[in-house]
Amino acid sequence: MVCTRFQVDGMRLLDGELSAEEKAEYEAHVRECDDCRRELKDLGRIVQLTETLRLRSPDEEFWRNYWRSLFRRMERRTGVFLMAAGAAVISIFVLLKAVTSPKFLSVPGIAAAAVLLGVIILFLSVARERYHESKNDPYKGVQQ
Ligand SMILES: [Zn+2]
Repeated sequence: MVCTRFQVDGMRLLDGELSAEEKAEYEAHVRECDDCRRELKDLGRIVQLTETLRLRSPDEEFWRNYWRSLFRRMERRTGVFLMAAGAAVISIFVLLKAVTSPKFLSVPGIAAAAVLLGVIILFLSVARERYHESKNDPYKGVQQ
């Protein structure tokens, strides 16, 4: 007959879930039971293995996510920065031209200025939204 006590008590022993009393009792049983002794050895190996895996995988996962999110954040920041810089330079240039032009007070001049102003406001709004989103980035805590 094969003893199957290790399936419950053996696992609990390795997980450190047995009380001191239960532990002493089970250890006494293991000394006399070949099945439990053999199985405990195998279980011990498995527990060690899964703990090594458990310790390693979140770490690798952590760094993979870290670099991925860092790269994505840098990409977006670079994109937003270039867009903002370019849009600002163009807007200022065109606005200066429009303001200094004698035709500025014409209807098309004012309309063009209004369109530009609208674009700037829209852009600022999107940029603020992006910034707010990046604050809620689930990987943000990784940075600390
Ligand atoms: Zn046994």
